[in-house]
Amino acid sequence: MLKIGGESLIGDREYGIDPKAVLSMAEKIKSIYAKEIEIAIVIGGGNIFRGLSGSKNGIERATADYMGMLATVMNGLALQDALEKVGVPVRMESALQMPAVAESFIRSKAIRHMEKGRVIILSAGTGMPYVTTDSGASLHALELHCDVLMKATKVDGIYDKDPMTDPSAKRFKTMSFKSAIEMEEVQVMDTAALAMCKENNMPIMVFDLFEDGQLERAIDGEDVGTFVSNESATVLA
Ligand code: UDP
Repeated sequence: MLKIGGESLIGDREYGIDPKAVLSMAEKIKSIYAKEIEIAIVIGGGNIFRGLSGSKNGIERATADYMGMLATVMNGLALQDALEKVGVPVRMESALQMPAVAESFIRSKAIRHMEKGRVIILSAGTGMPYVTTDSGASLHALELHCDVLMKATKVDGIYDKDPMTDPSAKRFKTMSFKSAIEMEEVQVMDTAALAMCKENNMPIMVFDLFEDGQLERAIDGEDVGTFVSNESATVLA
């Protein structure tokens, strides 16, 4: 399970979708697809609309969240298009019914697509407001029996301090779920999503999708990113 935030699609822009950035992401996905790995992708929508900011501007929270879910469908279509262009067979499913643009999410169908060698993009998160696509990624990872939830971020893993502002920040090589939830200064993903992964033993690999080759190296088990599981000790790289 690959969780890609909407910000990955912005590229050089300030907002929205940069087709060049989407194509480059599709190439990265192709490189791991070539390893005959079954891939499910949950795509975010933060580059277009986030429910929480919409509700701060006066839109009813649930309505704003549905708008956010629609944003993930737009991103999903863009990613589907790019994957097709680079020759990766792909199907998109949506947690909100939208028959003209995507199949509705049906667990058995999603599994069948992967068995047939198709990448699946799961859009509209959980289909329910008040959560984010991180929760969508954890729930889908669990029901599809994924081996790992690969969470793409802007930095290569979890750091003890904010690496964007503090040059002395150090990367954790591995981390326990307990630490990931308790350390408030490190924000791995939504606490609800983390708790779900912890309770159900779904390991998470936090890595940098922007750096060329890092997705492949993470899949190959090289020392990149941060691996979070119940069994892992919290140790710096
Ligand atoms: N969203 C939702 N339910 C879900 C998934 C997403 O309500 O199951 C809404 C929520 O408003 C969220 C927006 O869709 O802010 C975009 O998703 P997210 O913020 O997770 O995108 P990302 O940060 O990954 O780009």
